[in-house]
Amino acid sequence: MTSPVWHPYADLKHQSPAPKVVGGDGAHFVLESGERLLDATCSWWCMIHGYGNPRLVAAIREQAGELCHVMLGGLTHEPADRLARELVRITPTGLDHVFYSDSGSVGMEVAMKMALQYQVLTGNPGKRRMLSLMKAYHGDTTGCMAVCDPEEGMHGLFTGLLPRHYFAPAPTAPYDATPEQVEHDLSALREVLERHHDEIAALLMEPLLQAAGGLNMTSPDYLRGARALCDEFGVLLIFDEVATGFGRTGKLFAADHADVTPDIMVLSKGLTGGYLGHAATLATNRVHDAFIGDSEHHAFMHGPTFMGNPLACRVALESLRVFEEEDYLGKITTLNQLLRRELLEDPALNAHPAVADVRVLGATAVIETHSAEALKGVAGFARERGVWLRPIGRWLYTMPAYITSETEMVQVTDVMKAWFLESSGQH
Ligand SMILES: *Cc1c(COP(=O)(O)O)cnc(C)c1O
Repeated sequence: MTSPVWHPYADLKHQSPAPKVVGGDGAHFVLESGERLLDATCSWWCMIHGYGNPRLVAAIREQAGELCHVMLGGLTHEPADRLARELVRITPTGLDHVFYSDSGSVGMEVAMKMALQYQVLTGNPGKRRMLSLMKAYHGDTTGCMAVCDPEEGMHGLFTGLLPRHYFAPAPTAPYDATPEQVEHDLSALREVLERHHDEIAALLMEPLLQAAGGLNMTSPDYLRGARALCDEFGVLLIFDEVATGFGRTGKLFAADHADVTPDIMVLSKGLTGGYLGHAATLATNRVHDAFIGDSEHHAFMHGPTFMGNPLACRVALESLRVFEEEDYLGKITTLNQLLRRELLEDPALNAHPAVADVRVLGATAVIETHSAEALKGVAGFARERGVWLRPIGRWLYTMPAYITSETEMVQVTDVMKAWFLESSGQH
């Protein structure tokens, strides 16, 4: 009998039965059949410690013995308070307030509502739209779909249901671009702001790395320029660090590459090391203090049932501790050097006719092809070689767990290369 489980993004007509995972350790998960697969994507980029990390598992067990859940409405608890202090400590200076929710999408919904209400409370009730970027991905809820890339962002079907926002072109200048290259991207941003700033509450972006929309990477100068433009036009800057946060771009946060403090920043995915769903929306004093007042419009009207869940907060605290004590940024540097050597600097791969571009940033590497056709069958090919790869459209990428060993990482890059170089040119 087929399972009643309805899988995400699945072609129900052609899908084959999903393999059943029964456990995992380190960078591998284990299937019912005993097959061990090296996860090159660490489960949509959240399992940064890999599977079965004993410290994270113990933290959840201990917390479960004390308190599994309690509402955050009118109550607080130690894990929520301690995690908020830690997040304030490690995020860019000035982000001093933490609003919890249960997923990355909801964290972004919170950010957008917060920005709009901030504008209303500070005397700008006309600023009711967002400015987003092409190639953006900010989540699958209705509010988030409306700020995803409207053409390639897989939500085109829902036009009509979604509020209309403004979009600027996706940045084109690479990570190590010259200031002149970045200037081109910034003037495109300026153009939209000049015309529509009266209506725009916030500019939102995935800083440095637009992840699900095609692993598009850009320069820290773009972030600095965006910060300046937001200040000039009275627009809040929201960084969606759901994917980039916790080391993915080589620093703890993408914002750290540019020394920029956004007004609002959203964290999820790696926040709990992937062990439980949770998110945090951080805000500066300037944003937070606008909500202090006597009118009925001052309270922030949002409160997910599971916000600040003690199990999630506790495992997030342990995840951070492991990250710092076990020098994860050092591990990420090692992975980065390896990805550059094996992919970026491989002449045969870069010259392959199916390959449009190869990019590496932090613990992220992508082989962009000219068409999704070129990747048809790659998941099965990788699985036969012991690796779990799941491309997005025409992008074959790896975002490994940071505990992935050098040998394991080379196994992943070998499979990625072999798909293009060894398969007798059928792609
Ligand atoms: C995954 C992701 C989200 C959505 O997070 P969910 O937990 O899946 O709701 C939002 N923004 C970015 C940048 C993401 O990568």
